[in-house]
Amino acid sequence: MSAVKEPSFRESVDLMFNRAVALMDLPPGLEEKIRVCNATYTVRFGVRLRGEMRTFTGYRSVHSEHMEPVKGGIRFAGSVNQDEVEALAALMTYKCALVEAPFGGSKGGLCIDPREYDEHELEQITRRFAYELAKRDLIHPSQNVPAPDMGTGEREMAWIADQYARMNTTDINARACVTGKPLNAGGISGRVEATGRGVQYALREFFRYEEDVAKAGMTGKLKGKTVVVQGLGNVGYHAAKFLSEEDGSKIIGVIERDGAVVSKNGLDVEGLHAWIMKHGGVKGYPDASYVENGAEVLEEDCDILIPAALEGVINLSNAARITAPLIIEAANGPVTAGADEILRDKGTVIIPDMYANAGGVTVSYFEWVKNLSHIRFGRMQRRQEEARHELVVDQLESLSDAMGKAWSPDPDFKQKYLRGADELELVRSGLDDTMRIAYQSMRKVWHERDDVVDLRTAAYLVSIEKVAASYRAKGL
Ligand code: GLU
Repeated sequence: MSAVKEPSFRESVDLMFNRAVALMDLPPGLEEKIRVCNATYTVRFGVRLRGEMRTFTGYRSVHSEHMEPVKGGIRFAGSVNQDEVEALAALMTYKCALVEAPFGGSKGGLCIDPREYDEHELEQITRRFAYELAKRDLIHPSQNVPAPDMGTGEREMAWIADQYARMNTTDINARACVTGKPLNAGGISGRVEATGRGVQYALREFFRYEEDVAKAGMTGKLKGKTVVVQGLGNVGYHAAKFLSEEDGSKIIGVIERDGAVVSKNGLDVEGLHAWIMKHGGVKGYPDASYVENGAEVLEEDCDILIPAALEGVINLSNAARITAPLIIEAANGPVTAGADEILRDKGTVIIPDMYANAGGVTVSYFEWVKNLSHIRFGRMQRRQEEARHELVVDQLESLSDAMGKAWSPDPDFKQKYLRGADELELVRSGLDDTMRIAYQSMRKVWHERDDVVDLRTAAYLVSIEKVAASYRAKGL
């Protein structure tokens, strides 16, 4: 592709898809079937607000129904449009296939700047949008299960769940109609931070393989690595927090809407996050230098760049100047197809979105299963597990008594070993396992095939193969 015109987000996704299928042996009809978006529903509805009728435009796009329900978030942003929603729905198909979440791909969006409305108004708008979608089975536990995305969170998911339940009073599985709900409304522990946690687990897995790290021209582990994060929203905040607090990485730059802050000594993520919550931006944050043109900081010298905000932020205009040897796409589509080519030629390693940010939908999958099984994970086995561990510890103690030697394990061994796993621990374990296995499936293709030079193409190959297999099994 000669990099002159920046493709749209959807074109970018199609270009990346085409690059991958060119290396596969799919019948052309099937290739086309997988690529295209099955349907996009556009709704315009009115809500009476502040004494007048206001009209809103929303979308729910279904990319692929090779598995049902289809899954994907609902975004609230002024920039939402059909092209974007369709690109995001396609990414959901590939993402779910890659991490083996048994869903097709979907995405929704409402063209609205949520900051312009108060909570009560947002509730009215969200409920009305949910009503329009649920009426057409575009919210449904067995057909289409939304989740949070940019501009939405637990609160909106609780409204959606309640709206669906009011419309389906006898549906015993009503709670499974949407994920990302608060814990007291059928949610699951660990969902809020799941995408950020997934980014952390993805990086940990990448750094387990010396040869992969070497491909990015680096050595060593995550400890001490310098990181720039774009967007300290739910995903960027949790990723930055976990990487700095638990892995010893140094967050040297954070880019937000109103500029960026940089500190070579490392930023205090909690402090900065609290500052943003209070002041609405990073400007004025002490102990760091402020850069008004935040986008410049994407080009800052660092080991790992984490775009965790919007699509298309690394594009033809800045790709050549990006110096980070490793980019992990915490956002969906942050690197355009043109930029991807420039970076690939430079040898930059990109951990692609469909893998890197799959932590969210993975834990959504656990939440959906929890809702359908109507029981919290760990409830049946936790105490039984503790009792069995206690047996072992008792036996070790009497053994050491019999041998006349005092048994002195690490001080926290007993407490750690005796405690049965609660829901949060099980969710983390399931997420960690998912992220490891998906990475291994990608890297296998990356290393084994000479014609696959990047992780993104490898990810597409793995996921398209899975979608194709599921269509073949259905006889389509
Ligand atoms: N919106 C998130 C994503 O882009 C989560 C989707 C979900 O949990 O269904 O992956």
